[in-house]
Amino acid sequence: MFQKVAIIGGGAAAATLVSELLERRTPRPLHLDWYAGRAEPGRGVAYGTPSDRHLLNVRAASMGMFVSKPGGFLEYAQALDANVKGSDFLPRRLYGDFLRSRVEQALKNAHTYGHDVNVRPFDADSLMPSSEGITIGYGDEEAHADAAVLAIGSLPPRPLPGVEDAAIASGRYVTDPWPYLASAPADDRPLRVLVIGLGLTAVDVLLELSARWPNARFSALSRHGKLPEPHLAAVSAPSGDGDELVESLRDDPNVRVWLHKLRDAVAHAEDWRTIIDGMRPHTQSLWRDLPDAERSRFLRHARWAWERARHRMPPQVTASVVELEKAERLQRRRGRMRSVKLSMDGHLDVVRALPGGNEVTEPYDIVIQTVGLNTDTLRTEHRLVSQLVVDKLVTPDPLGLGFAALPDGHLLDATGTPRDNLFAIGSLLRGALWESTAIPEIRKQAQAVANMLVADKAAK
Ligand SMILES: Cc1cc2nc3c(=O)[nH]c(=O)nc-3n(C[C@H](O)[C@H](O)[C@H](O)COP(=O)(O)OP(=O)(O)OC[C@H]3O[C@@H](n4cnc5c(N)ncnc54)[C@H](O)[C@@H]3O)c2cc1C
Repeated sequence: MFQKVAIIGGGAAAATLVSELLERRTPRPLHLDWYAGRAEPGRGVAYGTPSDRHLLNVRAASMGMFVSKPGGFLEYAQALDANVKGSDFLPRRLYGDFLRSRVEQALKNAHTYGHDVNVRPFDADSLMPSSEGITIGYGDEEAHADAAVLAIGSLPPRPLPGVEDAAIASGRYVTDPWPYLASAPADDRPLRVLVIGLGLTAVDVLLELSARWPNARFSALSRHGKLPEPHLAAVSAPSGDGDELVESLRDDPNVRVWLHKLRDAVAHAEDWRTIIDGMRPHTQSLWRDLPDAERSRFLRHARWAWERARHRMPPQVTASVVELEKAERLQRRRGRMRSVKLSMDGHLDVVRALPGGNEVTEPYDIVIQTVGLNTDTLRTEHRLVSQLVVDKLVTPDPLGLGFAALPDGHLLDATGTPRDNLFAIGSLLRGALWESTAIPEIRKQAQAVANMLVADKAAK
């Protein structure tokens, strides 16, 4: 087993792994160094929002932190409010409270099996292989571990091509919506706001800012101008024909064929969601079956349709967006942003290519970019990730989906060889697994990596 383990990251994935490890009896006690960054450990990006407008997009019954206790969150929520049902979509803030309480409990009980854990409120800045295993650099300090796990979520967003530096410097072009939402004050001016991207984060931004800025008008731009699909209010069981469909997809790992078969299955289903949900347990293995060229085709042609269908809006959120549209405070726009420039009088001029190819220029006071997770490890300012890539300790995924890795989380070095003591969990495993960002997948990864860390065969 690896006795001294560095866990890097401050979100739900790191919290789950730390808790998994501390609750195990191991041949020798564990020493964990948890590099949790400066924010409260456990909440991370998704569960750090204080706003009750921001809801989980997974039902309460499926949000448990541990594989062994998938109903753990529901129990927690019901202890606070007996009316909560497993099918509810609860505030992400509440989920953050749950994570915090589980982490506190795990840290308090660490001594039960003789483990110790050192929560370091710093970012890990570098990792270097050493005679003792791995040396972790943080600030001006160094520490050693036998193994390290990266649980750092996705990478900080980068501005889209075409955005002028002056637009960013003006503070009117927002690249990362979460710190912006954390500090944006109430404002009753008639602001013109553009949100680029129309996924669940765009929806969170629209709901929050439309409440804080009662006289603002919002435009939301995406290629097709479509919102994420809605969840049904009631739970629908995954399609019973799921296995048959999955087997037929496996027979021919070709995206065009898959789309055809999926459309056919959807046409015969009572509700299309049952087909998508029926595929969830198989998505990772289907992804692994796809050759690189087909993965690339999927990303070009099917990715956004898949994301819209897979990451759905809770019914309350759908109702609020419909309200905004009815009140004519939200307009969806189709096309692609070409450029954003700061005008002489201080607003932003956004050039948008329309579906037919023509271009229009529109003025906005604020533009907020919400274009999905950044997993491009080759082009990032993330200090640790760029050090690992530059020093060839890891290999970027060829399609920009995180790190090259084995499906079990072992990272591959520059020669494609798995590193025996360096692992990742979460979004930066998208290249290996595709489905690798939500709690139901993350808790499985945390369990599997914990098993590998404490397994005897890894004895040093
Ligand atoms: C807005 C939003 C809503 C979501 N809603 C849901 C949902 O309802 N249900 C669901 O299952 N999933 C949801 N997800 C998916 C979500 O990604 C996972 O549930 C989970 O939060 C991922 O946790 P994480 O720890 O991998 O990443 P993160 O939450 O991103 O946490 C990673 C943390 O590590 C820190 N970090 C980065 N680099 C370093 C470093 N070098 N040293 C130390 N710390 C570092 C980061 O600052 C960050 O705080 C949502 C995601 C988002 C963005």
